[in-house]
Amino acid sequence: MKIAIASGKGGTGKTTVAVNFALAIGNTQLFDCDVEEPNCNLFLGLDLDKQEDVSIAIPEIDSEKCSLCGSCAEFCCYNAIAKLPQRVMIFPKLCHGCGGCQIVCPENAISEIKRPIGIIEKGVHAGSGISFFQGTLGIGEPMATPVIRRLQAHIDEKAVVVVDSPPGTACPVIATVGEMDYCVLVTEPTPFGLNDLVLAVEVVRQLKVPFGVIINRHGSGYNGVEKYCYSENIPILMKIPYDRKIAVLYSQGIPFVQRMPQWKENFRAMYHEICSISSENTLQDSYSGVRN
Ligand code: SF4
Ligand code: SF4
Repeated sequence: MKIAIASGKGGTGKTTVAVNFALAIGNTQLFDCDVEEPNCNLFLGLDLDKQEDVSIAIPEIDSEKCSLCGSCAEFCCYNAIAKLPQRVMIFPKLCHGCGGCQIVCPENAISEIKRPIGIIEKGVHAGSGISFFQGTLGIGEPMATPVIRRLQAHIDEKAVVVVDSPPGTACPVIATVGEMDYCVLVTEPTPFGLNDLVLAVEVVRQLKVPFGVIINRHGSGYNGVEKYCYSENIPILMKIPYDRKIAVLYSQGIPFVQRMPQWKENFRAMYHEICSISSENTLQDSYSGVRN
């Protein structure tokens, strides 16, 4: 069972939910796929070991062989190559590593070199049995997706997997959530929270990943999020109150399930609810012949 914790925008408490959820279940794999700003480990405090460097293959031009035909620049839809009057110029950070320019080059003048863009690290949380994996994108690097893909290569399909997704609705979110069995969307009870939740719901519906909502910092008096969920028949899995004790623990970097045992039970109950929703969906799909 692979469960993504996502949100339409940053700052809703997605990482807090991911860490507390994983700790409550125990013996999980926890992945921090928010590779531009991974911060699950602020709450876990683990010593991490580097597992691998993540690189993409970018072109290198042999100017002796290059006839300046311009085919590579014409082919590259990312504008990562420009043909100048005297030479061909590469813009490494625009290159997506597709290898197409190498294929179209008539002079066999293009080879590939590896460009490092990030790293994958791992740690083990002895108390809960969590295997934690973190991806970190290099400073200034624009492409998160290759790092997320390498992180996903460490998923054990037999394990319970909790994934802290990047925020928003762009490519890194799609790369993360599209591979999951279920998505928990964390939102806050504000008009901004509702606006971004609606966008996130559109994305997970397109991805055909079953999902439910957690309302974090519940109790502000704004009920637009609940009204929306009821009208769209979206399950509200949990409401986490706007609670001083939770906020103090958060500010100290302490997962609140470690000090408030009732919440451990609440998260476990949520996990069982997700399992039953997923198995119902699987049954319905098998009856109707639909394949996800
Ligand atoms: S590898 Fe692909 S993205 Fe990179 S420069 Fe060549 S064609 Fe463009
Ligand atoms: S396709 Fe090959 S030969 Fe043509 S400009 Fe590019 S590198 Fe040079």
